[in-house]
Amino acid sequence: MQNVYLDNNATSMVAPEVVEAMLPFFREHWGNPSSMHAFGGRVREHVENARAQVAALIKADPSEIVFTGCGTESDNTAIRGTLEASGVRRSVITSRVEHPAVLGPCRDLRDRGYNLIELSVDHLGQIDLAELQEALRRGPCLASIMWANNETGVVFPMAEIARMVKAADGIIHTDAVQAGGKLIIDVQRVPVDLLALSGHKLHAPKGIGVLYVRKGTRMKPLLLGGHQEDSRRAGTENVPYIVGLGRAAELAARHMADSGRIAKLRDKLQAGLLATCPDTQINGDTQNRLANTLNVSFQYIEGEAILYSLSDLGIAASSGSACSSGSLEPSHVLRAMGIPFTAVHGSIRFSLSRFTTEAEIDRVLAQMPGVVTRLRAMSPFVQHAGR
Ligand code: PLP
Repeated sequence: MQNVYLDNNATSMVAPEVVEAMLPFFREHWGNPSSMHAFGGRVREHVENARAQVAALIKADPSEIVFTGCGTESDNTAIRGTLEASGVRRSVITSRVEHPAVLGPCRDLRDRGYNLIELSVDHLGQIDLAELQEALRRGPCLASIMWANNETGVVFPMAEIARMVKAADGIIHTDAVQAGGKLIIDVQRVPVDLLALSGHKLHAPKGIGVLYVRKGTRMKPLLLGGHQEDSRRAGTENVPYIVGLGRAAELAARHMADSGRIAKLRDKLQAGLLATCPDTQINGDTQNRLANTLNVSFQYIEGEAILYSLSDLGIAASSGSACSSGSLEPSHVLRAMGIPFTAVHGSIRFSLSRFTTEAEIDRVLAQMPGVVTRLRAMSPFVQHAGR
């Protein structure tokens, strides 16, 4: 039986068209784009074509696109690079629900003497704009606030956030790794200064990222060396992956209209789980959520136990509780939302893609009640709760 892959926020399948686009750059066009000879020149053209394809996805100018090694590198470069270039800014604003790729560098800056403000979220995982306004009063800052959350799919009002930060003379970076290819992003309308994307979340390979840097934004590179990427990221370009990401960006734009179908499948999964599994709750703001993401808590059972049971049935999802996410701590996102302990521990994230079919959703819905009933029968939490 075919596997059901519902963990697309962790990583997504490389689209067959993307693989096809990349292959010639291993076999024939392996020149260095910086070389003066025709070998390199041909390759350079393809890199620039990919840059234009990525720029088109977010309505940027191609000169504003910097290729990096991953989303994490893009986030680190944006945060450290702009602060280093500015010198005078000593204040960093972020949110408590950011990915570690943002929280890591922000907390490192705090340890090195910067003033760090981590904005809270409400029980739906939404940011409080009044709290942001208050934080912006404390002087010139860099704000790094995500566009969409990887665990809950909650979408922040980025246009409003960016306008507020700009009005306060701040620099605004957004981690749009989960928003890229899933939401319409238009940097002409949303005045962010910097924006991070990652290839492997939008059907390109792992190990390729993008940093959008608005014209005029001052930023020191994280990697020093050659003059690649207009001296914003040293290192010989990863040409096959850049070409693949360009193709993936083009496909993502074309498939954007598919998000209605994906949302319908997600909603079917959500309604089905609520109807067939008692003591189940949805986590996150369902009115402002990525079409592909469903974060659901099954009370009184461990997320890991659910994941292993599903995995045995050929179904891949992920959990916001300990261990499976590679950390020993339960989800910092769900905890920031004030979700009770028993619900955090039983949380599962299902994340769909344009390759998800209704038959796959039906298969999960057919299996899940049995999994939940069996695990609850063994659960010490259920016995403790007197059920
Ligand atoms: N930011 C968010 C919101 C993510 O979900 C991820 C990956 O899970 C990253 C950043 C890091 O991206 P990469 O794996 O390309 O370093």
